[in-house]
Amino acid sequence: MPDQDSCFVCRKHNGLEFVPGGAIYEDGLIFSGHSWSAEDQKTPYLGGFIVEPKRHIPTWAELNDEEAERIGIVIRDVSRALKATVDAEHIYVFVLGHHVPHLHVWVVPRYPGTPREYWGLEVFEWPDRPTGGQKEVEVLCEKMRSFL
Ligand SMILES: [Zn+2]
Repeated sequence: MPDQDSCFVCRKHNGLEFVPGGAIYEDGLIFSGHSWSAEDQKTPYLGGFIVEPKRHIPTWAELNDEEAERIGIVIRDVSRALKATVDAEHIYVFVLGHHVPHLHVWVVPRYPGTPREYWGLEVFEWPDRPTGGQKEVEVLCEKMRSFL
């Protein structure tokens, strides 16, 4: 299908897009890996993970029962792994989907010491936020995999 051929998320699941660290979790229905896009390749927010259904569907509303159950469990497990690996004081889970019409759920740690004005979606704007390049992302993904 044309949609899936051009969809970044589908292409990633099919090994056609490079993502540092690869999958930290993958089964027949769900994929999870570190966030990575052309615009943040230099300094991604370290620990910003994405959980996606493998099926090309745009929103939470199109999940079938089995996918909804699995994605909930994987989001919980990624959240637990983040608390254990990066000492997250809080975990945000959100869906925006403004750029890619394939459901992708953000699971994002808030780091200790994050000023109150940078809570929520603003964590990405905090000047002192932990960031990392390809190497740091790969090291973190390896740690996360040991908890999943
Ligand atoms: Zn897709």
